[in-house]
Amino acid sequence: MSPRQKSKLKIDLVIPVYNEAEALGQTYADICRAVDALPYDFRFLYVDDGSNDGTADTLRAICANDPRVTLLQLSRNFGHQAALTAGMDASQGDVMISLDGDGQHPPALIPKMISLIEQGYDVVQGQRIEEDRAASFKKATSNFFYWLINRISGTQVLQGAADFRALSRNALNGVRSMREYHRFLRGMIAWMGYNSVILPYHEPERIAGKSKYSFGKMFRLASDAIFSFSLAPLYIGLSAGFVFFILAGVQLLYVLSLWITDNTQRVEPGWSSLMGVLLIASGIIMILLGFIGVYVGYIFQEVKRRPIYLVKGKTPDE
Ligand code: UDP
Ligand code: MG
Repeated sequence: MSPRQKSKLKIDLVIPVYNEAEALGQTYADICRAVDALPYDFRFLYVDDGSNDGTADTLRAICANDPRVTLLQLSRNFGHQAALTAGMDASQGDVMISLDGDGQHPPALIPKMISLIEQGYDVVQGQRIEEDRAASFKKATSNFFYWLINRISGTQVLQGAADFRALSRNALNGVRSMREYHRFLRGMIAWMGYNSVILPYHEPERIAGKSKYSFGKMFRLASDAIFSFSLAPLYIGLSAGFVFFILAGVQLLYVLSLWITDNTQRVEPGWSSLMGVLLIASGIIMILLGFIGVYVGYIFQEVKRRPIYLVKGKTPDE
């Protein structure tokens, strides 16, 4: 993006929220404090991802007091990536900045993000710096996930990359053209290959409430990333099949050698070894069938071409 006139830049802040009623008031105030004095035209695009705790009422009250704020309500809980997509689809600004509604993405970095876009970057990617806080299950699984995806997929995903980022209009149009149902935005944005810069930040604790990323949701995001960015699981089958083929050949040679040297009495009825091989082989076959099943399921969901999210209402009404 070429440098533009500061005063004319329109900046959309896309904020997906799911049951964040407790945190919303403060995060909104914090964002206002960070952007109010800046010489840009800001718009707040809140996406309510099917909350059932009064989030929508709080947001409607904010909309009524602040003409910069728009609320998009999804018809149900579609998940963080779909809610972000809804916000990005509604964004009409020159720059789009996405941040969480729980205060974990420091709004104080917004000016820095904008200035990097003005310098010509298309993607400013927020990266969570690991704190020295006690190791947690979430951190360990997240580290393992990034290690795995970077080993088996052709797209490199930055360790600790968050959905806290700024996109130029070009990059935003790029993501908007990718309509896949299973979405891992961090990977999709890396895949596009636009001119990117990393902006590290320290993640504060949530302002209120609990994480809305349940273990199930995290697992789904990880499998969306792995299965939609890599065919490596299918190759495990090929390699395992090959190894078993070699083992079978070795065994055949062994038995033949016993026949040739007239030592057939040494071939004992080996029930346990037979069972062992049988169980391992069928285990491997089941796992591989499972992988193929997952890919077929993904293909099935993509060919249905369902929308990524559905909108229930918009405030203010258009
Ligand atoms: N979120 C959402 N839909 C969901 C889950 C989460 O819109 O199904 C929102 C949530 O309200 C928050 C952001 O996505 O603004 C990140 O979620 P969360 O803070 O729970 O994730 P964590 O920071 O624990 O990884
Ligand atoms: Mg959070």
